[in-house]
Amino acid sequence: RAKADGRGQFRFFSPEQDASARARRALEADLRLAIERGEIALAYQPIVATATGQITSVEALARWSHPVHGPIPPDLFVSLAEESGLIHALGALVLRRACADATNFAVDVRVAVNLSPLQFQGGALCEQVRAILAETGLDPHRLQLEVTEGLVIRDVEATFHELNRLRAQGIHIHLDDFGVGYSSLGYFQRFRFDTVKIDKSFVDTIATSASARAIIGAVVGLGGALGMKVVAEGVEEAAQMELLVALGCTHLQGYLFSRPVSAEAVRALLAQPAAPLRAAL
Ligand code: C2E
Ligand code: MG
Ligand code: MG
Ligand code: MG
Repeated sequence: RAKADGRGQFRFFSPEQDASARARRALEADLRLAIERGEIALAYQPIVATATGQITSVEALARWSHPVHGPIPPDLFVSLAEESGLIHALGALVLRRACADATNFAVDVRVAVNLSPLQFQGGALCEQVRAILAETGLDPHRLQLEVTEGLVIRDVEATFHELNRLRAQGIHIHLDDFGVGYSSLGYFQRFRFDTVKIDKSFVDTIATSASARAIIGAVVGLGGALGMKVVAEGVEEAAQMELLVALGCTHLQGYLFSRPVSAEAVRALLAQPAAPLRAAL
């Protein structure tokens, strides 16, 4: 109930803190059940090439609708899964379903799957991915894995080794949320990412912030020099799109083009000619 805070005093947990810890544990138990029952859904959000207006890829985003509390934000249940060790089961479920769904999408469209840094622990990720690709029959070239900067700070050597093994299978590796984490330009020297995704926070302020534009321009320059595609995330307004195109981003993703939608809806979107998205550009 009480803990010494190291200065001979006691800090008591408030009833509120107790209740919130209990609520978290209850949610964790529900998440475990939902994963076991396969009740995690995937939504897919298009990524559009600025040059053509075509959807080149779709990002798989996990969705959990709690029977009582309704939709739980992914940031919340992913971190809950990371804290409780459920991330391995969740990660496998997401990967398996995304690869299976992608076999029903147009063949020139890739699918991007987010990975937690914790999925790199244990050294079994590469074999798991290989097994899921074999099981679903998805061409490895159509799979993109999104990792965040936080990934690299744990065990640098092991992580880059695992990333290289994944790339050797033909899988593309994206660096997600670039610019807001523990960024080190040195990563780009250690590993050639296929794509760098500029965090939404830069896009949000692009119209008003000269420094946001300078940073995006610098990342585009880096991407061009290192042969990486540059995706801007969270594009909501036409004015943002115009600035991002002018700055040279090769790909865009955001509500302006499409919200994340069901597998069936994205499949229908992909079956259409590029007209609706081209119109936005
Ligand atoms: P992320 O990988 O950076 O994904 C992009 C997030 O931005 C998604 O939020 C997407 O819905 C949102 N987004 C895209 N365009 C717009 C826009 O124009 N406006 C706004 N306001 N938001 C936009 P979501 O789906 O809530 O996911 C949040 C984060 O949760 C993801 O960020 C990712 O880090 C994590 N996540 C989601 N699914 C998974 C998963 O299957 N595995 C893991 N490990 N993490 C996941
Ligand atoms: Mg992502
Ligand atoms: Mg992101
Ligand atoms: Mg994110």
